[in-house]
Amino acid sequence: MSVMAEDRTRKEGNPALAKKYVYFFGDGKAEGTKDQRSLLGGKGANLAEMTNLGVPVPPGFTISTVACKEFYALGTKWPHGLLEEIQENMKKLEGATEKKFGSRQNPLLVSVRSGAAVSLPGMMDTILNLGLSDETVKGLIEKSGNERFAYDAYRRFIQMFSNVVLELEHHGFEHILQAKKKKLKVTQDTELNAAALKDLVTEYKAHVKKSTKKDFPQNPAEQLKLACNAVFRSWNNDRAITYRNLSKIPHDLGTAVNVQSMVFGNMGNTSGTGVAFTRDPGTGEHRFFGEFLMNAQGEDVVAGIRTPNPIKELKDKMPKAYAQLEEIYQKLEKHFRDMQDIEFTIEDHRLYMLQTRSGKRSAAAAVKIACDMVREGMINRDEALLRVSPDQLDQLLHPMIDPKVKIKALAKGLPASPGAAVGQVVFSAEDAMEGAKKGKKTILVRQETSPEDVGGMAAAEGILTATGGMTSHAAVVARGMGKCCIAGCGSIHIEDDAFTVKDSSGKTVKVKQGDFLTLNGSTGDVILGQAKLVDAELGDDFRQFMGWADDVRRLKVRTNADTPEDARIARDFGAEGIGLCRTEHMFFGENRLKAVREMILAQNEKEREKALAKLAPLQKGDFKGIFKAMAGLPVTIRLLDPPLHEFLPKSGKEMKKVAKDLKIPVKDLEKKVVQLHEVNPMLGHRGCRLAVTYPEIYRMQARAIFEAACELAKEGLRVVPEIMIPLVGMIGELTFTKQDILKVAEEVMAKRKVKIDYLVGTMIEIPRAALIADDIAKEADFFSFGTNDLTQMAFGFSRDDVGKFLPFYVERGLLKVDPFVSIDQVGVGKLIEMSVSKGRGVKPQLKIGICGEHGGDPSSVEFCHRVKLDYVSCSPFRVPIARLAAAQAVLKERK
Ligand code: ADP
Ligand code: MG
Ligand code: MG
Repeated sequence: MSVMAEDRTRKEGNPALAKKYVYFFGDGKAEGTKDQRSLLGGKGANLAEMTNLGVPVPPGFTISTVACKEFYALGTKWPHGLLEEIQENMKKLEGATEKKFGSRQNPLLVSVRSGAAVSLPGMMDTILNLGLSDETVKGLIEKSGNERFAYDAYRRFIQMFSNVVLELEHHGFEHILQAKKKKLKVTQDTELNAAALKDLVTEYKAHVKKSTKKDFPQNPAEQLKLACNAVFRSWNNDRAITYRNLSKIPHDLGTAVNVQSMVFGNMGNTSGTGVAFTRDPGTGEHRFFGEFLMNAQGEDVVAGIRTPNPIKELKDKMPKAYAQLEEIYQKLEKHFRDMQDIEFTIEDHRLYMLQTRSGKRSAAAAVKIACDMVREGMINRDEALLRVSPDQLDQLLHPMIDPKVKIKALAKGLPASPGAAVGQVVFSAEDAMEGAKKGKKTILVRQETSPEDVGGMAAAEGILTATGGMTSHAAVVARGMGKCCIAGCGSIHIEDDAFTVKDSSGKTVKVKQGDFLTLNGSTGDVILGQAKLVDAELGDDFRQFMGWADDVRRLKVRTNADTPEDARIARDFGAEGIGLCRTEHMFFGENRLKAVREMILAQNEKEREKALAKLAPLQKGDFKGIFKAMAGLPVTIRLLDPPLHEFLPKSGKEMKKVAKDLKIPVKDLEKKVVQLHEVNPMLGHRGCRLAVTYPEIYRMQARAIFEAACELAKEGLRVVPEIMIPLVGMIGELTFTKQDILKVAEEVMAKRKVKIDYLVGTMIEIPRAALIADDIAKEADFFSFGTNDLTQMAFGFSRDDVGKFLPFYVERGLLKVDPFVSIDQVGVGKLIEMSVSKGRGVKPQLKIGICGEHGGDPSSVEFCHRVKLDYVSCSPFRVPIARLAAAQAVLKERK
């Protein structure tokens, strides 16, 4: 079908082709609602919702994400009919505003804003004041009677449009602006008068002409078309892609485009603009929190060009508008039933709302707000549990500056994102990323941050900016990342690779690139040097919240802990047992290492027994410590699974020392080391294979476990050891090792005259074990998935070598996520599901858990819940994360 014929069919109303791309809002009603985020984007859906609620929103329309997706499907071309639909809606908008787009007498100006289903802060730029030209600006002057304002709007428009659409850098314009301010001896943009701004417009246009070899587009209809096109394209700009990668947001959602009539916060001292949160996004405190600037427009507050005023000052300056704002924010929070992040503009005392969305918040704030809203009866407990992302909890569990140490702050800024950070000063995002590659901790210091800095912000430990407020780009992005940030630290003066600051005694201190700095994002203190950090304290809200999670979840959460100290931390975080106690970690340390080496290097069984006899009492002590720390909770002990080479001397110097320690000739030692050398130790002589060749090793360990358990049982402590055999791939490996363990158990219990309950189970970490899980279940009391090895062996990826290629797999989309971080549900997950069904087919009550790193990854936890495991086990600090993820898995299943 020809293009024209297709067009005609569409016009004639063929329902298959009659698509709707554009949704109008204005005059108190909108074509969309808040539930249409995926179609209208978050911004568009909420603009529609606010309109329907009767909140004052400047009228406009939203071009749906479908148009953007089709734009890409057509190879970056506009879908048929879109332009006409935009023109129709523009007519409607002219009706609603009683202005005319492109008219010299009464010009309608609009903003063109992007807005995807998921908010991407600052990722895609907004164009304000579109519709201005040399002609229409005259109309704006006549209508407003304010020449200064009109030229201020025009120069902003030229810069924004040129940046977004014509791809000219901001600094070209900033340079011209700075030169003008310098020439007129003023410091603030607001001090430029009408004549100066008019000059600026001329100079800006000349700059555009020179850079693009074309005149700045003067036709408003053309401007609108180009702007919408640029928003579509911006969905795939580098910054947007980086942010989506960092936040695991899919790349195929597309963005909507919002075209909205302008209201002006830059009309003089009865106008202004601001952003606010309905509750404190740092602490969660129930108070209105925000900032505004008088005589300013759009991004001025967020961009950190001037440091804005706290919102309460608006109450004195414009009491009427403030009262209305108060009423609206409460209404919005009630309606959306969540803390809102709002944007507003006051045009000559009249208040307009420009955006509302669920506000980003720190972890502490997320927990407090969720608990408060339950108490206020706004949401129920289940909803509260879904309001906090499990990964976010990580922030709460991590260190803060030791409150006992008296700190002298070098400078003070705004406490924009809580937590503490210690690192070496860098001044560019590149340096922060370079540093992170080398394992160097950095503090990124910037005048202000912009979306280009996002990669560097992610790489740095903390962020410090000289300008910008609590809602600046730096603050919002840092809070989203859970990263410590201090913003608006006005006393620092940044030079190229250093900053200076006057300390309390008035002395100038210079801080150079590479110097250590500590940030306290909860107080705004900037501290020279490295302050001591201590573990965070968890408050009552946290405990209550986690209690709700525990009431809901079915999965048990255990921890991976090798020492009594780790076990205690994990219990404090709510661990319900140990899912993995790795015994080889007990063999490091001066004395022990020597005995282990003796054992490994032993020439015969007798020598080996002698070495093992030295280790036995140490092991028994370890187990007693851990059993005591877990006070009756189950403890899974994995018998020795060492990659042997880790215990052997490597350098010549080490070789000499070990030979001397063991009283053998260096030559013999060298020979033995060569004998023991493995080409592929990960697939070598480890795990139960070691016990098949040297059975006395597991016998010693079993004895230590049972003796420890019996001794504690006599003291009245209930202990249920769960002994786990690693690396089983065939049934014989399990029966061979198990029979020894049972024999030792009987012997010890008979001798000590106590009976204890115990289990002998196996890891499922070799793919073959998954394939014969039904046979294994006949012999095993429990299964525990060692998903690190299972992933390694299922993919055939050496865990220690993946660094060289796996990042490219993720970057190029061959893998959605790193399978060592999040269980590969389609592949490795199949092996798990198969083992569960085969195992439970033989033993319906078979206890099954997982003990790989994945046990603390929220999406893997959700998977474990779905395939009906009994528990997950993870590192101590991830226990609360797993508890919440397990509760959310139940709630999501119910939905
Ligand atoms: P972001 O996604 O970065 O928040 P927005 O599209 O919300 O970008 O807009 C950027 C700035 O421009 C905000 O401060 C917003 O309030 C302001 N703005 C957008 N549209 C209008 C408008 N029609 N009138 C006045 N200000 C506007
Ligand atoms: Mg923006
Ligand atoms: Mg916005």
